[in-house]
Amino acid sequence: MPQRTIPLSSPDISEADIAAVTAVLRTPRLSLGPRVPEFEEAVAAFVGAKYAIAVNSGTSALHLCVRALGIADGDEVITTPFSFVASANCMLFERAVPRFVDILPETYCMDPAKVEAAITTKTKAILGVDVFGYVENWSVLRAIAKKHNLALIEDSCEALGSSSGGKKAGTFGDCGTFAFYPNKQMTTGEGGMIVTDRDDIARAARMMRNQGRDPDAAWLDHQVLGYNYRLSDIHAALGVSQLKRLPEFMANRARVAGWYGKALAPLSEHLRVPEEQKGVDVSWFVYVVRLADRYTAADRDRLLTLLREWGIGCNTYFPCIHLQPFYQKLYGHTKGEFPVAESVSDHALALPFFNALTEDDVAQVASMLKESLAILAS
Ligand SMILES: *Cc1c(COP(=O)(O)O)cnc(C)c1O
Repeated sequence: MPQRTIPLSSPDISEADIAAVTAVLRTPRLSLGPRVPEFEEAVAAFVGAKYAIAVNSGTSALHLCVRALGIADGDEVITTPFSFVASANCMLFERAVPRFVDILPETYCMDPAKVEAAITTKTKAILGVDVFGYVENWSVLRAIAKKHNLALIEDSCEALGSSSGGKKAGTFGDCGTFAFYPNKQMTTGEGGMIVTDRDDIARAARMMRNQGRDPDAAWLDHQVLGYNYRLSDIHAALGVSQLKRLPEFMANRARVAGWYGKALAPLSEHLRVPEEQKGVDVSWFVYVVRLADRYTAADRDRLLTLLREWGIGCNTYFPCIHLQPFYQKLYGHTKGEFPVAESVSDHALALPFFNALTEDDVAQVASMLKESLAILAS
């Protein structure tokens, strides 16, 4: 039955990537050297933003966006419960409160009608997430933000390379973020990036990532409370090298998604494959299928167990943020508050997805999925 193990995700590291990293190691400039600005300029040019500020993770990028916008104690930020936990945690770091709204079942983006209904006198911002490489309905979100004088933060940590109406994900808000953990479209090992057109946000983020230092002042002159969120030149060199390969990565991933679509078509009464998003060029992050409504979360978990026993990497994607234990404890959230997000979460199954997957691998995953569905029915 099992032929070979297939991981859920895997980075794509070339000899050129390795050479770029080792070249830095042959210099004394392991941090605060030339590779960081080179990486920043390359990302800014790629997405079409005025500024890019490299940091050590996507979570750090989100935190600095929240701080740069002055979001603090008791302020409310409207966001999605269907995301990686960091997109809401960044508000808790500043004692601000995430106000979750439910999502649309097709693209998993926030339901704009629910966004407007969630606005209160304490609302300061909307933080949208371009989940799985889909792109939020930014034109509607921008109109709402403008009407109510709110800031817009775009968590594009899963959408580097996606574009909507010819404009790149990450550039729709006052500031946007990217992440470079090894399961993302491209990696620096760990790393993140803020992109913005706003001088004030860029300047604040640059100071705060480097211990609050004013770039024009002396080394031990700390103007504001800062952090060490710097990205090293070793990581940045990998980023420069990987970014050059991003168009090739995106094409590979789209091809793998196409194979899955075909291989899983015979299982369409059991599960649905990811839908296209109108007007959007999706940069594929993960490949998440959704079981039919008649299946329960327990069924889904049983499938996960079977597939893993057979060496197929797979996972739930995502458990809802509001149902994470500490969110329930802090805010009293309960099941049933966001039925669309919860239902998607209960039925979602992320399958192996990375550049080097072959058509044979995809066929193997599809046949094991079919077999596990048969076991479930028996
Ligand atoms: C990966 C991710 C992050 C955080 O990135 P890290 O680099 O792991 O800190 C934030 N938001 C979303 C939606 C992500 O997928």
